[in-house]
Amino acid sequence: MARYIGPVCRLCRREGMKLFLKADRCYGAKCAIDRRPYAPGQHGKSRGKKPTEYGLQLREKQKARRIYGVLEGQFRRYFVEAARQKGMTGENLLRLLERRLDNVIFRLGFASSRPEARQLVRHGHFTVNGKRVNIPSYIVRIGETIAVKETSKSSPKLKEIIDAAANRAIPVWLSLDVNAAAGTVIALPTREDIQLPIQEHFIVERYSR
Ligand code: SF4
Repeated sequence: MARYIGPVCRLCRREGMKLFLKADRCYGAKCAIDRRPYAPGQHGKSRGKKPTEYGLQLREKQKARRIYGVLEGQFRRYFVEAARQKGMTGENLLRLLERRLDNVIFRLGFASSRPEARQLVRHGHFTVNGKRVNIPSYIVRIGETIAVKETSKSSPKLKEIIDAAANRAIPVWLSLDVNAAAGTVIALPTREDIQLPIQEHFIVERYSR
């Protein structure tokens, strides 16, 4: 399964905001965007002119892709699916991305970043309704229970993450049972639940050109 393997802090600097791709480092003094708050590359510091309409559309699309760790081809497929669904395409798109299993694991606090959640899923540490699922792009449904696999609960790393999860705020569309290391999807996320600074109408405009 293809994924971006280049330097991730560069992505935050390009988008001009923290995308929280590196767990603890993102909250500390070593965060690259705090130390070098300008775009990467030779001309990074001189990029400052007003963006064009095309530029705005591109940046919003890239930002959403990078936050959720999705490559271009897959992102476009999400858009096609979102456009097929009833309702606002932009909101449908964000809702689909939000329902990815790796994102849900992150939202439940079973990983400290989406890239870490993706890796834990790939390594088979989670079940959905009792069955092992190792596909990060799996789209969760209402009523499904996502749990840490029984044999993985003794892993020191997962134990540490799960203990920390007790203090994390959980979105209202999910419920968490910390003792069972399991979470349930109780509703579909609304746009208000997805508190990300993405202007999805620019993404829709970009793909509707
Ligand atoms: Fe982005 Fe985290 Fe790197 Fe800061 S430390 S630039 S938030 S990935």
